[in-house]
Amino acid sequence: MTSNPLQGAQFVLAAHRISQLPADSGAEVAFAGRSNAGKSSALNALTGHRGLARTSKTPGRTQQMVAFSLPPLTQGDGQAPLEARLIDLPGYGYAKVPEPLREHWKLEIDAYLKHRQSLRGVVLIADIRHPLKEFDRMMLDFCFHSGLRCHMLLTKADKLSRNQAAQALAAMRKSFPNGLHATAQIFSSQDGTGVEAGREAVVALLRADTAL
Ligand code: GDP
Repeated sequence: MTSNPLQGAQFVLAAHRISQLPADSGAEVAFAGRSNAGKSSALNALTGHRGLARTSKTPGRTQQMVAFSLPPLTQGDGQAPLEARLIDLPGYGYAKVPEPLREHWKLEIDAYLKHRQSLRGVVLIADIRHPLKEFDRMMLDFCFHSGLRCHMLLTKADKLSRNQAAQALAAMRKSFPNGLHATAQIFSSQDGTGVEAGREAVVALLRADTAL
């Protein structure tokens, strides 16, 4: 087994506004998903840290942006290691979130995606059995308009047969709008499907150039 490049992730802070996030330097990847999509489980599986993001939290607890630091990424040509972070964005859609809070996060997430200099891309987590709900479409739309790369984890793949999962993945890839820099893969935090590929995708995003 190859070593996990995301091993050693640590909680840094939880924020209610972008201005409270860590300094905007280095490289970061944001994780987004409707509540209950399996985002916390995916973060835990990818980082190999069982308790990193709390799974099945009460709705109130999901309503923050959470920053995790990663071990610095080595770079070639004698360059200094790259400071790296993951940002867990608040999810809503499934859990009942009051309308004003929903609106707050919609604006805050949009502004974050547009203006965050260190942001290299978004990992969007969706349940493979019913991806592309309103929240998912909104995120893809934001990525498209902000020129951000997006990698989709179609999670809970253990709930489908391999055939059904492959079909869902193909359908998802087809539905990406033209011009969106998006990739997708099958994932399961439960049985480990796609975890290594997911880690590689996150590292590839962190190392990616900002300009598309
Ligand atoms: P979040 O709200 O997006 O952070 O979702 P959680 O990670 O808390 O997961 C929501 C529910 O889905 C929990 O009951 C998890 O145990 C379950 N879940 C998450 N990932 C998977 C998976 O890959 N397979 C299965 N079968 N269940 C999962």
